[in-house]
Amino acid sequence: MFDWINASLNRKIGSILAVSLSFLLVVIGYSIYQVRSINAELKDVSRVDLPLTSVITEVEMLQLQQHLSMEHFRLLMGKGNEEQDPIASFSHRHQTIVRLLDQATQLVSTNINNDTIQFKPEEYQRILDEIHTFSIVNQSFEQQLESLLGTASLSEEVWADLEATAANLDKNIVSILEQINQLTLEATRYTEEHQQSFLLVETGLGICAFILSTLLAAYVIQVMRSRIDKIHQQVEQLHTSLEQGGPIARPDNHNLKASDELSELELDLKKMIARLSDEMNTRQEFEQQLIQLATKDKLTNTYNRHKWTEQIQLLINFASQDKTFSLVSLDVDHFKKINDTYGHQVGDKVLQRLADLLQKNLKKTDMVFRMGGEEFMVLLIQQDLAEASAIAERLRNKIASYQEENLPTFTASMGVTEYNLGETEDSLMTRVDEALYQSKKSGRNCITWLE
Ligand code: GH3
Ligand code: MG
Ligand code: MG
Repeated sequence: MFDWINASLNRKIGSILAVSLSFLLVVIGYSIYQVRSINAELKDVSRVDLPLTSVITEVEMLQLQQHLSMEHFRLLMGKGNEEQDPIASFSHRHQTIVRLLDQATQLVSTNINNDTIQFKPEEYQRILDEIHTFSIVNQSFEQQLESLLGTASLSEEVWADLEATAANLDKNIVSILEQINQLTLEATRYTEEHQQSFLLVETGLGICAFILSTLLAAYVIQVMRSRIDKIHQQVEQLHTSLEQGGPIARPDNHNLKASDELSELELDLKKMIARLSDEMNTRQEFEQQLIQLATKDKLTNTYNRHKWTEQIQLLINFASQDKTFSLVSLDVDHFKKINDTYGHQVGDKVLQRLADLLQKNLKKTDMVFRMGGEEFMVLLIQQDLAEASAIAERLRNKIASYQEENLPTFTASMGVTEYNLGETEDSLMTRVDEALYQSKKSGRNCITWLE
């Protein structure tokens, strides 16, 4: 089935246009059909009803004249008036009535045969039958009249009989006329109602088409807005990440196939964010490596002298009564001898084991620096001289008791001191060097603390 939701914008707009156009075509088709039908109904009235009414009215008039003439002759009869020629005038009217009735019959039957009568054709058929019956009765009446008019005198009964037949014929023609009128009125009313319902349906269809198109358009706009919002949110998120310098989350599904222009845009954005995220991660890794290279000693993975210079200045600048620190200066005893006896590589291994021992036995906040060769410095944050001395003694012990296969045992001498508020780095370093020197002098593998 056609997946409208995921179709491209062009297809969405195209389908809305197609729906609207089909609706319009339906409305136009319906209008044409209805207008034709109303037109045919109106034609019924003008083509059949009106001429038929006119013909039948004429017949009625002739009937009336016939009736009057009959009365006239009745008065003249017996008075010996021979100048009148009643047969000629009756015959003339009779022919006219016959012609008119033929004309009416012709009119109705042609339209019935041609199927052009829209409204109640069976009623017209009935009228046709009545005209036919009327025609037969009228013909016999005319013949009777003609045969009688030659006679010198007629009895009152004959006249009464003739008058009754004439009156009956009058009634018949009036009834036909009324039926035609009735039918015309009904047809007109029906056409009016038809027109009104047609207008109503047209208006309804128009409103429906409008509502349908508006709803579809609103739906498309809503879908587009929510998707644009989603894209906007992603852009905002990217901005925030870039501003804060934090990591950029790598979006999922950026390799999917785009179904329309907006999802194409969204996918392009996701691809761009994914690339940016990868590049940022690489950059961060690279920065991390640079920091590592700039601040760490490669052999022992402790901080280097450069980091020491930076860190000691920072601590001195921010030192206060609550924020003090202590130093432990450490030097491997007779390291030269280890090198000479076991080789430089073993010497390196000793330095690595020593650094591991220091780092494992210190708090996360404490820092170990390699100051050069086999000399290390330990920074004990927020720890006083007594605590620092205890730590130094513990470290000395761990170092001296460390044993590993193919590695000689080794010891270290240490000098311990605490930073005194207000003093310079030089004075601090002189004191800690002095303490270490005293440890060396005292026979090594020991600690000396100086206030
Ligand atoms: P002391 O007990 O008085 O400290 O004597 P020592 O032998 O430890 O001191 P000295 O300063 O005489 O010797 C230090 C030696 O450390 C000299 C140098 O070759 C060696 N050394 C310096 N850096 C390294 C290094 O990275 N690796 C190795 N294996 N040896 C190093
Ligand atoms: Mg040394
Ligand atoms: Mg040494």
